Amino acid sequence: MEHQSHPLLSPVPGTERRIDSFHFGPADAERSLYVQASLHADELPGMLVAWKLKQRFEALEAEGRLRARVTLVPVANPNGLDQQLMDTPLGRYDFESVGNFNRRFVDVFETISAGLEADADTALSDEAKANCGEIRRRFRQALEAITPRSAFESTHLVLQRLACEADYVLDLHCDFNAVEHLYTTPAAWPTFEPFARYFGSKASLLATDSGGASFDECFTLVWERLREQFGDRYPIPYGSESITVELRGQQDVYHPLADRDAQAIIDWMTHAGLIEGQAPALPALPYPATPLEAMDFVHAPIGGLLVFAVEPGTLVDAGDLIAEVIDPLADHVAEVRAPQAGMLYSRSQRRMATAGMIVADIAGHRSHRSGYLLAP
Ligand SMILES: [Zn+2]
Repeated sequence: MEHQSHPLLSPVPGTERRIDSFHFGPADAERSLYVQASLHADELPGMLVAWKLKQRFEALEAEGRLRARVTLVPVANPNGLDQQLMDTPLGRYDFESVGNFNRRFVDVFETISAGLEADADTALSDEAKANCGEIRRRFRQALEAITPRSAFESTHLVLQRLACEADYVLDLHCDFNAVEHLYTTPAAWPTFEPFARYFGSKASLLATDSGGASFDECFTLVWERLREQFGDRYPIPYGSESITVELRGQQDVYHPLADRDAQAIIDWMTHAGLIEGQAPALPALPYPATPLEAMDFVHAPIGGLLVFAVEPGTLVDAGDLIAEVIDPLADHVAEVRAPQAGMLYSRSQRRMATAGMIVADIAGHRSHRSGYLLAP
């Protein structure tokens, strides 16, 4: 195991922080995997999974069974992790810019595309593998050429530089109160469908561009757009496939759950040939993958006490009661009902709803949204 430390831009004197990465497996391996946890620093189930993976990867490396180069970042956002306010852990938004830590990652598509266009005849060829290597090299160079202007950007750039050349990117998150689910692209779904089975994903939401420049898409979208631009002239593979894994809810930090999740990642890696060995038989997928455009955010119509009628992991029909919102002064009881049939996979932690607040998420089958597809 190799341990590296990456200093972050210090926002004010005396507040130096860093991101630590751990590297396993042969440096010259054919394929590579990047795993990070707790970019949203109030989402800690992934940190426990990452800590367990650290030990598993060390053991696999010692046994000579790791066939991939693995980079692991168990604490992806130390600045967010130190946001404790009056006994409440925060960590989802940067205090300075009020930006969501998993939005607005640096986009280097224009730099790579302009550079490739300028020397396309020499940089690209009819060899897909060589093109992949060339684009990855330019990806890294483009990110390294950027000087971060803030601690927020500095965190983003360190993580992007660590992950930009990996074949597979696993970003470990969780929701507020939820069952197992994940986000990936339609193009990467065949790669991650076996993971969804081992993980027991109750909702697998697919989108190519969800509009937020989140960590997973800051890699895949660049490849998608390069394929659009150069694909009719040169073979351009998907040089990065990424997935955002939602490890249930914020309170679900338990050894048995984390052991199960770490094992799901190991099983998928074995299935994909990144670890030597025999992968267990693939379990059935609990719920089919659905377009992110078909997912419904269910909103509170008024402010008031939020009383849920269903648990996460419930299959609902259109019109089913999800919750009541009660105004105890006006004696008004507003019902929140499912707009379409689907899997209710996540719900709010808050029990005092504000008017318009997202109450629950339902993975449906009827695509009806476009543009920005994510929560704030
Ligand atoms: Zn998150």
